[in-house]
Amino acid sequence: MSFDVAAVRSEFPILKEKIGKYPLVYLDNGATTQKPQIVIDAICNYYTHQNANIHRGVHHLSQVSTEAYETARTTIQKAINATHNHECIFTKGTTDGINLIAHSFGKGLEKGDEIIISALEHHSNIVPWQFLVEEKGVLLKVIPMLQDGSLDFDAFLALLSAKTKLLSITHISNALGIINPIEKYIEAAHKVGAKVLIDAAQSLQHFAIDVQALDCDFMVFSGHKIFGPTGVGILYGKEVELNALPPYQGGGDMIKTVTFEKTTYNELPHKFEAGTPNIVGGIALGTAFEWRNKLDLKAVEAHENELLAITTEALLKIDGLKIYGDAPNKSSVISFLIDGLHPYDIGTLLNQQGVAVRTGHHCTQPIMDYYHIPGTIRVSFSLYNTKSDVESLITALKKAVKMLK
Ligand code: PMP
Repeated sequence: MSFDVAAVRSEFPILKEKIGKYPLVYLDNGATTQKPQIVIDAICNYYTHQNANIHRGVHHLSQVSTEAYETARTTIQKAINATHNHECIFTKGTTDGINLIAHSFGKGLEKGDEIIISALEHHSNIVPWQFLVEEKGVLLKVIPMLQDGSLDFDAFLALLSAKTKLLSITHISNALGIINPIEKYIEAAHKVGAKVLIDAAQSLQHFAIDVQALDCDFMVFSGHKIFGPTGVGILYGKEVELNALPPYQGGGDMIKTVTFEKTTYNELPHKFEAGTPNIVGGIALGTAFEWRNKLDLKAVEAHENELLAITTEALLKIDGLKIYGDAPNKSSVISFLIDGLHPYDIGTLLNQQGVAVRTGHHCTQPIMDYYHIPGTIRVSFSLYNTKSDVESLITALKKAVKMLK
């Protein structure tokens, strides 16, 4: 198999949009990816032909809807190679998945227990653990980062002890694009008996993940960053780990029996899926995975790595431009600043030329504090980006710099 970027691109209708008189150059894929027509059609098809509540009705539409939702779960299970489909819990997204674990895993923690996160975390993998620090008196420890944006593995080893109950770590930094070698972090954490939660929000759009090979206990991601809709995501958990946790929210679907005296809980995955879920979101996320399954993901990775290399080279030729996070193992994300220029001004001038990039702290204020900067300009590629997008970016950027200097 190989990868035909023009053919893939033609499946994304939004990429034909114009911003003023300029064609859209979408380079904000770290924030969210665009959706192929097949995913858009799945959403429309659901409300046109399938809409009904799931798991409850004997009538035809309810059965069709339930079947489509559960088929999507199985598609996702297979894509990440989970052992059972009930190990894939539908959530609202990465943030929701982390909060679920913080709540349910947190119930079993005691004062003095330790949780380790890293200096590269998104705010959604910092704040839920701080709630536990306040509520339970657990200690939150942070793996420090180094100048090149990688993590200090030796410092991590020194943080580990019998008190460590959980390591919650991002696979890829959304702000810098650095890929953490999570395999060795997982192995080391398991040696002291800690569980491991992987924030895969940024990784699944770039390459495949095999949760069994990785041996993580939990993994979370958002559908909207992998060509699916917003408001839906997945918490993967090993069956034994999920069964050991109390439920997150109470309500319909998550119960077996209810009396005013006592409630018994449903089995996985329903125990963690209280209330009517984002049914259409789950189904369309399944469609997004089916679509992605047909791609040669190794060829996609090579394509994105080429975009990363040529863009990095071209950017570094611009006077006063500094890239933050230049450790060798990177996904196709580049964060940079230009001497004396505010990222927001650059972002605004790029937008005026049709180029969509992100500016700011990217929900990673501790990283910005580490570098003593207010924020960066972040370019993040996806599989449908082309060399022509890179040329547009560089031309627009040079023009913006000229206007501002
Ligand atoms: N973690 C990482 C690494 C992210 O990139 C993001 C989204 N920027 C999140 C967590 C939060 O994802 P969501 O807003 O979809 O819940």
